[in-house]
Amino acid sequence: MPRKRNQGSKWITKTKRWAIYFRDNCSCVYCGRSLKDGAILTLDHIVPCEALDVPDNKHTNLVTACLSCNSSKNDKSLNDYFDYLRAVGVPEEKIGKITFKINCARAGNDTNVNKRQRNTLYLNGHYKKAKLFLQNQK
Ligand SMILES: [Zn+2]
Repeated sequence: MPRKRNQGSKWITKTKRWAIYFRDNCSCVYCGRSLKDGAILTLDHIVPCEALDVPDNKHTNLVTACLSCNSSKNDKSLNDYFDYLRAVGVPEEKIGKITFKINCARAGNDTNVNKRQRNTLYLNGHYKKAKLFLQNQK
C-alpha cells in the first residue's frame, strides 16, 4: 500500500485519529462510504506530506478517507485528485460536495458545518467520544 513517506504509524494518537473519524461521521469524505458500509477508515492528508518539508498533521489538514479512496489519492494534490475523479466520471456535483466537506475540515469544523472561523471545540467534543469508544474496545 502506498503510504505517507517517512511517517510510520506513530505520527498520530489513536484518540486523535478516532476523534477525526467521529468529526467526519465515520465516513469517507470522498466517496461517502462509512464504517457501517464496511469501509476501512484511514486518515488522508489534504495537503499531502510529500508536498511539504514537514508533514502537516493538524486536524485541519486531516480528513477521513476509506482505504480505497486514500490509495487512489495517494500523494496527489487535491486539485490533481479532483482532475482524476473527473477523468473517471465523477460528476461535478459530487466534487462540489467533497469540496464543501474539505473546506469545513480546513476551517476546523465538523465536515457538515459551514462556518468560516476556526472552532476546535467541535473536535474537542469528538475527543471525548473517541476516548469512550477506545475504552470500550479493550
Ligand atoms: Zn472513499
